[in-house]
Amino acid sequence: MKNLLRPLLFYSGFHQSKIIRRRLTGRRAVFILNYHKVDYRVPPLFGVAVRPDVFERQMVFLKKHYRIADLGELGKLESDIEDKRDIVVITFDDGYRNNYTYAFPVLKKYGIPATIFLVTDYIDSHRLLWHDWLSWILYHAVSTAHDFTGTTSEMKHDIERFCSSGTAERLGLLYALAMKLKKLEKAERQNYLDTLAKACKVNRGLEYKDRAILSWNEIEEMSGAGISFGAHTKSHPVLSAISVPEAETEISESKKIIENRTQKRVTTFAYPYGKNEDFSTDIVDILVSEGFEYACTTNAGSEMFPISNPLRLKRKSNILAPYLLF
Ligand SMILES: [Zn+2]
Repeated sequence: MKNLLRPLLFYSGFHQSKIIRRRLTGRRAVFILNYHKVDYRVPPLFGVAVRPDVFERQMVFLKKHYRIADLGELGKLESDIEDKRDIVVITFDDGYRNNYTYAFPVLKKYGIPATIFLVTDYIDSHRLLWHDWLSWILYHAVSTAHDFTGTTSEMKHDIERFCSSGTAERLGLLYALAMKLKKLEKAERQNYLDTLAKACKVNRGLEYKDRAILSWNEIEEMSGAGISFGAHTKSHPVLSAISVPEAETEISESKKIIENRTQKRVTTFAYPYGKNEDFSTDIVDILVSEGFEYACTTNAGSEMFPISNPLRLKRKSNILAPYLLF
């Protein structure tokens, strides 16, 4: 039924599509948007950066057409039968500094709530998350000489292929390589990245010039201005690939740290990487016992009231998603 209606919904335009769907289901939709970076700068990797001016236009559009709600408040809205509007929830993963620089002023200007999921080990440091470090090395490799001493032939091939590709293809290669590295043990991955950096003659010190992740000062200022913070673990591991006690520490400690700093309860979580294979029922059980109420995956889709599975929420991460909701 839904598939048959899709073209009709699309061509009949935004408002009509909403009316048709509501008549069919009688339920309010909840669209949870997944942003990462809001920035003018490239290179992008996970969650391609949304330009700040585009982000502002998206927020204006969403505010006009939807009830924008805080993730942690969904339970209250569910019981509000007076408000018939569909709901949009804004989330950001990883806690990039550009969320403060570019997204926060827009959110403040329009009074829009949002939740930022923090990786607590990285806050206040100048380290890059490993996928950003990979991206940083390869994009610099394009304009540096290489030294393949000590590298495997596979790595040499990866570097050469990346450097001789066009911009669009590079993003695909980067993503494929990141997916390969994601499966490695932490130490093995670190070793790969160190060798790669050496081969590409990229100095680790380079990344320290510009802090990429939020500071506690920025977080506290945003928290005071109504932005919510959720946990996204301490070090951004694949939770299904580490032991249950380790996962427990990653989850509970990141929660405690944020609660201590913001003096607010943390009830929301986002699974690192967020696909079904990246977490397990053991992880969901940990979230329940730690008192989390909502947890976001990166599985694509939307929710409906009443939300059937608040600890496995689907999200929309396409940068055009705000214009394509129906
Ligand atoms: Zn993440």
